[in-house]
Amino acid sequence: MNQDSNKVAIVTGASRGIGAAVAERLAADGFTVVVNYAGSSTEAEALVTKIEAAGGKAIPAQADVSDPGAVARMFDAAQAAFGGIDVLVNNAGIMKLASLAESDDALFDSQVAINLKGVFNTLREAAKRLREGGRIINLSSSVVGLTPVTYGVYAATKAGVEAMTHVLTKELRGRNVTVNAIAPGPTATALFLDGKAQAVIDNLAKAAPLERLGRPEDIAGAVAFLAGPDGAWINGQVLRANGGII
Ligand code: NAP
Repeated sequence: MNQDSNKVAIVTGASRGIGAAVAERLAADGFTVVVNYAGSSTEAEALVTKIEAAGGKAIPAQADVSDPGAVARMFDAAQAAFGGIDVLVNNAGIMKLASLAESDDALFDSQVAINLKGVFNTLREAAKRLREGGRIINLSSSVVGLTPVTYGVYAATKAGVEAMTHVLTKELRGRNVTVNAIAPGPTATALFLDGKAQAVIDNLAKAAPLERLGRPEDIAGAVAFLAGPDGAWINGQVLRANGGII
């Protein structure tokens, strides 16, 4: 508790789901947390209030990660408010499923804009600005390994995130900044649950040897490990946090 009390973490897409659990956990670990969101201001503000009520520090920060100007302004605001940035968690993402034959341009463009360009936008800022000892944690997905039908474009964006993770690890040589990715399996959030029949959800819940869906807190624990003191020697890795599904 409070092992990182002077450190500042930006968590993208922190208004709901995995990002909200990550923000809450990092705040409990002592980080000052920038709770980024695109549209869900009510949820983001409620999360900030909850973190503050528990004794933590957080601010809401609206920025569409696909907009490079908005991302730069968010980093500027965090630096101005707190003096620097130590941790970036690239969590914001969307998922739209269709076979490649049935995928339209909007499906492709929106996922590339948010999942791939959005991560590029924040990595570019973080690479220039993170303080010594910093940590970058990108959210990939276990579908990069599972390659299930209908996940083609989504999985491609996440494969791109993993590639940038490995390249940036090397580009930050000498800076004492680690870059890693967490690749969750099916996790009980709106992104995973929305639009799926209960039978599909039940099947996927049974697919991992641990025979349940991941919880946002499971993923937050893995992120907290990489962001905290025990993760200092982990660099350039993709950690699949998925109950053993692959
Ligand atoms: P979620 O419940 O749908 O939440 C997505 C979050 O991203 C929301 O806070 C949303 O904020 C934000 N967001 C979306 N577009 C954004 C944008 N353009 N700019 C800034 N924020 C944006 O999703 P989740 O399941 O927690 O997923 C989090 C991450 O884990 C994603 O990268 C996802 O691909 C990855 N992942 C999830 C699973 C899973 O099974 N759930 C598995 C593997 C990987 P607003 O509401 O304000 O738009």
